Amino acid sequence: MAVDSTLSSPLGPPACDKDAKALRFIEEMTRNADAVQERVLAEILSRNAETEYLKRFKLDGATDRETFKTKIPVITYDDVQPEIQRIANGDRSPILSAHPISEFLTSSGTSAGERKLMPTIKEELDRRQLLYSLLMPVMNLYVPGLDKGKGLYFLFVKSETRTPSGLLARPVLTSYYKSEHFKTRPYDPYNVYTSPNEAILCPDSYQSMYTQMLCGLIERNQVLRLGAVFASGLLRAIRFLQLNWVELAHDIRTGSLNSKITDPKLKNHMKHFIKPDPELASFVIQECSNENWEGIITRIWPNTKYLDVIVTGAMAQYIPTLNYYSGGLPLACTMYASSECYFGLNLNPMCKPSEVSYTIMPNMAYFEFLPHGSGSTRIVDLADVEVGKEYELVITTYAGLYRYRVGDILRVTGFHNSAPQFHFVRRKNVLLSIDSDKTDESELQRAVENASKLLVKFNTSVVEYTSYANTETIPGHYVIYWELLTKADSVNSSNSPTHEVLNQCCLEMEESLNSVYRQCRVADHSIGPLEIRVVKNGTFEELMDYAISRGASINQYKVPRCVNFTPIMELLDSRVVSVHFSQDLPHWTPERRR
Ligand code: AMP
Repeated sequence: MAVDSTLSSPLGPPACDKDAKALRFIEEMTRNADAVQERVLAEILSRNAETEYLKRFKLDGATDRETFKTKIPVITYDDVQPEIQRIANGDRSPILSAHPISEFLTSSGTSAGERKLMPTIKEELDRRQLLYSLLMPVMNLYVPGLDKGKGLYFLFVKSETRTPSGLLARPVLTSYYKSEHFKTRPYDPYNVYTSPNEAILCPDSYQSMYTQMLCGLIERNQVLRLGAVFASGLLRAIRFLQLNWVELAHDIRTGSLNSKITDPKLKNHMKHFIKPDPELASFVIQECSNENWEGIITRIWPNTKYLDVIVTGAMAQYIPTLNYYSGGLPLACTMYASSECYFGLNLNPMCKPSEVSYTIMPNMAYFEFLPHGSGSTRIVDLADVEVGKEYELVITTYAGLYRYRVGDILRVTGFHNSAPQFHFVRRKNVLLSIDSDKTDESELQRAVENASKLLVKFNTSVVEYTSYANTETIPGHYVIYWELLTKADSVNSSNSPTHEVLNQCCLEMEESLNSVYRQCRVADHSIGPLEIRVVKNGTFEELMDYAISRGASINQYKVPRCVNFTPIMELLDSRVVSVHFSQDLPHWTPERRR
């Protein structure tokens, strides 16, 4: 298709007129980042002027930055939790937002062990969709011909609950996939998925994954890109194929559908889609029965140009495994978003994972930046951040979060026009993460304390511990190293803790971890059983000696509660005396405990 040359973009030649419009929008927003931000803040403050929250701080209808910054405090979730709870309980007065709160988005960040509830309003869906609509126009600048095939994306909905007053509470992607924006999206040749809506929307994760994989196999030659939201999700799909290829090949050979697929809409869709294809079935069997799965992705889907998964932040730990299965296909990180707000996109999506920078789109919310680690506390605006410096992201949203600390640490890498670009450094306080779970130091500490209660009757205590996220297994799992002390009178007696008791300690730790961890274990199967490795007495002293030999100060030495430095892990592993795993699943239901 000839593209109207007057619509050409500084980012590169657009693939079609629609792309030209999207690229022009990006240019317009990034050229005028500061002015757009000023307008966004004024819009948010004027429409919400009569809310209880803004009135409490006596904003008196002011919409300028100066007054806003003087009067409105920078807050965390716990500060606004009472207001959120009132809304959840049914108070429909304009507490945070003049627009009615349409639902709550449940974040993977937790407060008191439960997912944080993020208020949202209907029009936020438009804003999210707008950001999505910019992704392919940018990708098309780098990868030609994506309109000639399909994307195999493993997308899932998760369980939803209702608050006491009946408002829905569910993850942001579940909300998006169930929206008309997604379900009735117009045909776009650059955005065709192999997964039917019926499969994506099936609440049973096995049936959903099975049919998405089946469709992906059937259309293997059309697949040009493969993805999931996070790297861990794509690896879970590969693991699923490892465990289920015999049944999948059987369905392909016979043109029938596995009897475990019982969801009526999904069954009906698949009935019309699946046809016997013995040749494809033989191919699947030949590839999957091969012991060596290196490069399996490109063998099964030979036309794949890149993997579309987030591998920044905690997900970077999966890059080597993805490279192994894909034979080193490019990894594209396209966007940066959260339940609170969608932030921005990567304008150079085919860059190396270590070089990924996200450009925050100034129309999405009002963004401020709290200097991190530099001693300065002077919060700055989007257009005023400095290259090389680290900041914590603070947002003010249309849905009614004001100067809210997201908890993400970002480093400025440069600018596109006047909009800064950020490397995602890390999320604050996260010690362990396998999938969307985030476990902090105090949660781990509490879990160890609770589990060690089981040792009391054996006169045994946990004297030191540390941990790491083991991603060599799929799914990955938490490994906790314990050094135990059994009181002298019970050493060598038959009363020291048994293997079963230590297995039980693993489960007790899991019971104590937050609801996102337990959901990953129970509903998503995206985390494997927790493992405790008991190490020889004196191991943690050796660990300290090692750290001191490498220059740590003896006075300031603290046991690291999470390790990932190979020599340290080798030291720990060489001192292991017994290994224990959780033998059961912890408790989890969609209902919140509070
Ligand atoms: P949630 O609140 O569960 O939607 O999770 C949002 C959080 O996921 C963000 O605040 C980040 O910490 C993380 N996240 C989202 N997108 C990315 C990305 N592209 N790279 C790294 N981390 C991300």
